[in-house]
Amino acid sequence: MGKIIFYILVALLIYWFINYRQPKRKKNESFTELAEDTVICAHCGVYLPKKEAIDSQNKFFCCQEHCDLYVNSSS
Ligand SMILES: [Zn+2]
Repeated sequence: MGKIIFYILVALLIYWFINYRQPKRKKNESFTELAEDTVICAHCGVYLPKKEAIDSQNKFFCCQEHCDLYVNSSS
């Protein structure tokens, strides 16, 4: 009887291990894709997609307001 419980536990562990690993690997792939296209606002430090960021003086900004604030403060 004890052996049957042991085998069920092993089967559950393998089942859990397979289900646990698959989504995690997908998550890591999407994270690296996200990291490559993500920039930091030079004014407030918020992370945002590069395509949505405002590019000025080799720096990225989350909005035009922060771009203007940074340009005004640095000049
Ligand atoms: Zn900002």
